[in-house]
Amino acid sequence: MKRVILIKYGELSTKKGNRNFFINTLYHNVKNKLKNFNVSIFRDRSRMYIEFQDSDLEDIKKKLDCIFGIHMYHIAYIVDTNIDSIKDLLIQLVQNLSFNTFKVETKRSDKTFPIHSQEMNHILGGVVLKNKRNVFVDVHNPELFIKLEIREEHSYIYFNAYSGAGGYPIGTQPKGLLMLSGGIDSPVAGYLAMKRGVPIDCVYFEAIPHTSLDARNKVIELSKKLAQYTNEIHLHIVNFTPIQEEIYKNCHPTYCITIMRRMMYRIMEKLADKYHGLAIVNGESVGQVASQTLTSMRVINEVTSMPVLRPVACFDKLEIIDLAKKINTYDISILPYEDCCTVFVPKHPVINPSLEQAIKEEEKFNFSDMIDMAVEKVDTIVVVDEEKEFSDLL
Ligand code: ATP
Ligand code: MG
Repeated sequence: MKRVILIKYGELSTKKGNRNFFINTLYHNVKNKLKNFNVSIFRDRSRMYIEFQDSDLEDIKKKLDCIFGIHMYHIAYIVDTNIDSIKDLLIQLVQNLSFNTFKVETKRSDKTFPIHSQEMNHILGGVVLKNKRNVFVDVHNPELFIKLEIREEHSYIYFNAYSGAGGYPIGTQPKGLLMLSGGIDSPVAGYLAMKRGVPIDCVYFEAIPHTSLDARNKVIELSKKLAQYTNEIHLHIVNFTPIQEEIYKNCHPTYCITIMRRMMYRIMEKLADKYHGLAIVNGESVGQVASQTLTSMRVINEVTSMPVLRPVACFDKLEIIDLAKKINTYDISILPYEDCCTVFVPKHPVINPSLEQAIKEEEKFNFSDMIDMAVEKVDTIVVVDEEKEFSDLL
């Protein structure tokens, strides 16, 4: 009995004009993710099919669970589209299953197949009742759903349904650059951006010697977790030390965080140009800290015209934590290493900064060369999907 994985696309179906682009992107993502398995992958406008080796099934399922654009998938038995073959296969299959009540649901995608769905449900229900003892039809709350999909050449029988990761395939949008700190919020923000189809590069602002290499390793570990959803992620490490030191030497303490974040945004915009990104992504959440009040966001955001995606902007911290646990970044994020923001945090950062004052603070030192230098001297690490080791490739 031959099985295939049958993938349902979900949200893609709403994208009429773009449908082929979405399906092809998903196809390439699946192919890439399963490149180490002996599989054959086929696609049509409503389904993708994966032929696999039985012994690989559990490992393949783990990979599929991290591919955005898959709404649901089934492990289905494949049969020729003719009534006798379908009946024979169903008789064999139900022998090995234990259940008391069942319901047959047929989807007739091949409209040339002469038997309508309802009639097929009755025929197959009769077949099961005749060939399996002590079972009953229950259309409201059956123990076993028997699903049949009738397609042109082949049809599919399955009893299970696995939820996919949802969202859109990564690569259906242009790239975004994620500001990845060692905290809880930014990895979740990266996950959510990727879920909308946005591939990401990560950017980490480092302040060695004020921060440790352990802090950098933490960000690498977080990038690895995010790389599970794609194949590899480029992590750009910015040496932020000279700029931060200048800020703290020259600016009023209450404005240091505001200025520091304006500098980060300026660097992000230049890095986006350098690495072909069209948006900045970060883990800011409205009201969470002084730099994330709407007034602060307005003043900070003023330095760039690039879209800034803040996927967790309106989430409660507890909602973010739940997601962080779900994507396995939480345990890494709570490791206690210092970040450049925490090292330099002043006692009383301004909650409602004014733009005029921020500009005045910035006139106290010359930052534009330092920004260019930070962008030019960025270090890039290629981080690959968790099981493999990351390497310094660039
Ligand atoms: P926490 O979970 O503790 O809030 P955080 O990483 O969200 O951690 P914030 O001070 O709230 O820290 O920073 C807001 C956002 O700014 C982060 O979500 C992240 O996107 C970005 N950011 C902060 N520090 C850095 C850094 N050192 N490198 C890159 N991005 C950073
Ligand atoms: Mg935060």
